[in-house]
This record gives sequence, structure tokens and C-alpha cells, in this order.
Amino acid sequence: MIAKKVIGLPLKGLRLAMKSGDTLIQNAGTQALRVKTWFDNNKSNTNTAAETQSAATSGYKNANSAANYEGVDPLELEFQKSPINLVPAIFLIATPIAAAVITPWYLLTHEVSAPVWGVFGAFMVWTGLSITAGYHRLLSHRAYKAHPVVKNFLLLGATLAVQGSAFDWASGHRAHHRHVDDRMEDPYSAQRGFFFSHIGWMLRNYPSGRFDYKNIPDLTKDKVLQIQHKYYGLWVLATNVAMVAAVGWLIGDVWGTLVLAGLLRLVLTHHFTFFINSLCHMFGTRPYTDTNSARDNFFLAIFTWGEGYHNYHHFFQYDYRNGVKWWQYDPTKWLIAGLSKLGLTSDLRTVDDTTIKHAEVQMQFKRAQQQIDKATSEGFDISQAMQNFQDRIKLEYDAFKQTVEEWKALKAKAIELKKTEYADRLHEVDDKLKHDYAKIEQKIFEHNNNLKTAFRSIGFNNKAA
Ligand SMILES: [Zn+2]
Ligand SMILES: [Zn+2]
Repeated sequence: MIAKKVIGLPLKGLRLAMKSGDTLIQNAGTQALRVKTWFDNNKSNTNTAAETQSAATSGYKNANSAANYEGVDPLELEFQKSPINLVPAIFLIATPIAAAVITPWYLLTHEVSAPVWGVFGAFMVWTGLSITAGYHRLLSHRAYKAHPVVKNFLLLGATLAVQGSAFDWASGHRAHHRHVDDRMEDPYSAQRGFFFSHIGWMLRNYPSGRFDYKNIPDLTKDKVLQIQHKYYGLWVLATNVAMVAAVGWLIGDVWGTLVLAGLLRLVLTHHFTFFINSLCHMFGTRPYTDTNSARDNFFLAIFTWGEGYHNYHHFFQYDYRNGVKWWQYDPTKWLIAGLSKLGLTSDLRTVDDTTIKHAEVQMQFKRAQQQIDKATSEGFDISQAMQNFQDRIKLEYDAFKQTVEEWKALKAKAIELKKTEYADRLHEVDDKLKHDYAKIEQKIFEHNNNLKTAFRSIGFNNKAA
């Protein structure tokens, strides 16, 4: 996502020249490896024809047999040998070093005025929220609609953040959601470890990081975004150097503003965003699903402007909220909701409370079953408390299934009624349906409470990851 074009214009020629030599050697190596793998596989396939035959008859399918060479996947080898992304790599390594050296030196040797600190704070908020409310929730997920003034203001802030053009960012992010945790397809797969998912994925030109923009047809036809993408390098210089210096000149301290509101702000915003791809896939709870690595983490929500509730976000990605509970710290949600009161944002997409609670309760049943399986696998003699827990969960699950059936039937009935009823009776139908939905919601909340009590009886924290 970091610009393949970050300050790319003047350096493009140099980079291309270096890359083409690199790529030629790379391609030759990859092709040679493919030929060798194909040859070796064919040879070993002939030798072990009988074995293969018997495996096939028993229904066993070795999906990797054609791709494996002595246990090493050639695609993985190709991945590992991806060429360095020169400009982004230099930029991403040099800026934190520069910030770590220059900022303390500058603060020790210069007086920094309150307005400079004020601009630093304002730019932190602006860039941070422009990524979360702009690039992420507005452009990547279409979770709400924004007035052009809001959209362009966020776009400018996101450009100031130097995290790539909107096309690169959104295309990569949609791929991340679609292929989450896939080592080959998720551009910042957490399965490749902290370093890769945090920053490593941008340092080399990995196959998973080459975006073709096929997944952002809604964005590629947007004229403003096209301009941002085409002249991205110039936009980055205009915002991060010219604009920051101009603000510094206005408040009477160009260098102080460049160091703090320019460099330090850039590096902090970078890594706070990168935390979402790394730490938010490693530490925290999984209240909605454990089918991917995304976690909910209040502490990380503070640094990420509310994006720390990443488990919810991966399960209900079109919701404009990440911290879905009213008490969860999600300034991005507050900004979008606040702007809607002023008419500057609209069509805020949300998931209804019953569906959210249903996901949570499903997850709790799954954890309960895991606890029961764990206790029974340890021996025949499970404790009385565990026995009671097991009975309770079974009864509750039967009742829960019943509630879900009623809920499904109600949804089907709602569709049918809305199709057949005359327009003037629709509000009557709506009132009746609302009442029935509230009853179902109440029941699901009760299941949730009963489960919590059951978990307490065995002293288990059911939200644990
Ligand atoms: Zn994620
Ligand atoms: Zn997302």
C-alpha cells in the first residue's frame, strides 16, 4: 500500500533500470526452478505410480503432489525471492530512523512553541482519521456516503499519511478481507508473522502485493481518485513538504513544524496504521468468530482511532462502526455519526443488534463445546460442575436452535408480507414485525445471559482468544 509511487516520479527511471536487471535474473531463476520441479515430480510420480494409485482409490488426494518438491512449495520459494521494492523500502526504513534521531535532538536544542505542538496534534488526528474514516470505511468498504467536501478533505489527509494511493490501499485491503490469513493471497497475511504483516509486506514486491484493481471498479471510475493515483508522488510532496512548511511559516517555525508535524507525525501514523494488520491479528479476544486471526483489542483501539475492534470488523466489514457497542472507544465511528447529524455523511450501514448478538452467542456455544471436549478428553471422570455445565449447555443449545428457527421464519414472513400488503397497510405490518423482532432479540439476549452464568459456574472467561 505504501506508494509504489512514493516520491516516485524523479526516481522512477533509476528504479526501473535497477528492477529490470533484477527481474530478468529472478524470472530466469523461477522458470528454471519450475522446470526442475516438474521434471522431478514426473520422475517420482512414475516411480511411485502404484502408491499413487492406491492413494487415489482410498479417496486420499494429495493436493500438493504436483506443487511440492521435497516439501518445499515452488510458489513459496518464488514468494521468498520477491525483488526489493526499492523506493518504499528506503522510505519506510529511513523515516523511522530519521525521526528517532532528529526529533530528540531537535527537542533538546530548540524551543518548540505551543502552536507547533497544536499543529502536530491536529495533523495526527487529521491523518489518522483520514485513513480510518476515508481510505478504510468510506472507500474500501463503502460503509457510508460522504459529501464531496468530507470525501476530499479525508482524501487529502490520507495523502498526507503516505500510505499509497486510494487505489492501492483499497485494492489491497479488499484482498485482505477476501483472503484473510491466506499466505499467498492476503497481502499482509498475519500467518507470515509480525514483521511481515506489520511492514515486511511492503519492502518487497511480493505476488500478493501486486494489485490489478479488478476489485475496485467503483473507485477506478472516480475522476478525483484517478488524479490522486496518477500524480501520487507530486501529491505526497505537496502535502508533506509544501503544505507542512507553509503551515510552519504561518505559525512562525518552519523547521519545528517540518520535524514534528511532518516527520514525527508521519512515522507515528504509519506504525499506528500498521498495528491493525499486525497486532490486531495477534493479541485480543475473538467474540464474533474464530475462523480468522482478527482480534478485538481496546488498547490497540486507542492507537488506531477505533480500528482495534478488528474481530467485529472482519465479521461485519460493511458496518461503519468497528467498536459496535456504544461504550467501545471508536472515534472514527463518532466522527462519521457526528457528520451525519450535520448532513455531511449519509447512508450509514449497520448490522442489526439481533444478528450481532446471534454471532456472539454462536461463538459462545462453540467455546462451551471446546471446554466440554477438553474436559472429556482428559478422562472419563469429569467433575460434577463440568457435568452440570454440559447438561446446561445442551438444553440451552436446543432452545437457541428453536429461537433461530423462529427468527428465520419471521424473516421469511416479513419478506412475504412486504410483497403482498398494500402500501397503506405497510406501516401496520411494520409495527407488528418490529414487535415480533423485539421478542426474538429478547430471547437471544437471554440465551447470552444464560451462557454467561454457565461459564461463570466453571470459572471460564468465554471471551478468551
Ligand atoms: Zn485485518
Ligand atoms: Zn477493513
